[in-house]
Amino acid sequence: MCCVDVTIIGAGVVGLSIARRISSSGRSIAVLEKEPGPGRGISSRSSEVIHAGIYYPSGSLKARLCVRGAALLYEFCTANRILFSRIGKAIVAAFPEEEPSIADLYSRGMDNGVEALKMLDRKELLAREPHVGGTSALYSPNTGIVDSHQIVKRLEAFCLNSGVTIMYRSPVIGLEKQRHGFVCTVEHPDRSLYSFSSDIVINAAGLDSAHVASLAGIDIHRSRYRIFPVKGEYFRVTGGKHRLIHGLVYPSPEKNLTGLGIHATKDLAGALRLGPNAFYVDSLDFAVDPDHARDFYSGTRDLLPFLNEEDLEPDMAGIRPKLQEPGCAFRDFVISHEAPLGLPGLVNLIGIESPGLTSCLAIGEYVEAMLKEDALL
Ligand SMILES: Cc1cc2nc3c(=O)[nH]c(=O)nc-3n(C[C@H](O)[C@H](O)[C@H](O)COP(=O)(O)OP(=O)(O)OC[C@H]3O[C@@H](n4cnc5c(N)ncnc54)[C@H](O)[C@@H]3O)c2cc1C
Repeated sequence: MCCVDVTIIGAGVVGLSIARRISSSGRSIAVLEKEPGPGRGISSRSSEVIHAGIYYPSGSLKARLCVRGAALLYEFCTANRILFSRIGKAIVAAFPEEEPSIADLYSRGMDNGVEALKMLDRKELLAREPHVGGTSALYSPNTGIVDSHQIVKRLEAFCLNSGVTIMYRSPVIGLEKQRHGFVCTVEHPDRSLYSFSSDIVINAAGLDSAHVASLAGIDIHRSRYRIFPVKGEYFRVTGGKHRLIHGLVYPSPEKNLTGLGIHATKDLAGALRLGPNAFYVDSLDFAVDPDHARDFYSGTRDLLPFLNEEDLEPDMAGIRPKLQEPGCAFRDFVISHEAPLGLPGLVNLIGIESPGLTSCLAIGEYVEAMLKEDALL
């Protein structure tokens, strides 16, 4: 049976970032991806925002990896000529009652080490965003937008040039623990099966990561690894109104952080989108319900008073791999070496929702450090 040192399941931004990071370790590395190309899962359906790290509880992996990841990603994009723009973000209090939660966010952002945050009064907000309604705002100049598809392509190229093997159309359907390492079973497009052994297995399978963990015998209910998919739809703003917004405009965030609230994002071509909303779903269907335009309109009317419902056209949708059950409290990223579960060599990455794109390079760094600390690399 063929043997590799490290197998990474999933060629999204997270799996590829880990592969890139450990590619200089001298180990043989294989990335297995069920789709025909890289970054076709969650990574292809995001807001493409480089977050600064404001929202997440201090000390959480989301906060730490986002702050570190944003710095690494800006460096990576600059070095690799990947398009990005630090267009800045205003988190706006629509009414005086929302001001305390914006002030709390400022303190949390400062605790998380986010640089250059600034509170704006109404006059200062209007100087930046003359068409936005609201009484004050928290302004983050380091928040930006990026071409996530270019990030994926560059990470893939880096891995291939560093000797990493990437196999597409290769879903992992079995993970069997051996005395040392695991036997991984892959199903080929012609339904034939192929098995090989691997000392280390890294599960970066996005929406399927809990299922992949269960293949190794982990009880996903007991370990609290079950994923509750949360859909996020976007509507694009038509009628030339994209010119009325300069940066990113977010509302005061939702309680429990199911989403960051429907916000206005610009892409690198200058187009304006509203979204994503956030609702739990049972199936992975990416259609946008045109009837939701009404909710988008009413949800953003106070912040973006220049919009009419007719300006909104369905755009696209993404699905978050949430660990947080409906109505429950914040859950952090899970990045865990499962030796305590009797599975040494298995690293699970579960619940890598936003800010996973921003954090991807920092996640690579974190996983490498974890493997070294546990004497696996
Ligand atoms: C609506 C939305 C908006 C977002 N906006 C932002 C944002 O603005 N900024 C930000 O920082 N983050 C954002 N995120 C989060 C970010 O997009 C994700 O955290 C990140 O893309 C996750 O990458 P990943 O590699 O873990 O997952 P994926 O990209 O899904 O990669 C996992 C891969 O594993 C493969 N796979 C699954 N099962 C198997 C198997 N059995 N065998 C082989 N391959 C398998 C899948 O095909 C997939 O390609 C957003 C997410 C959503 C849903």
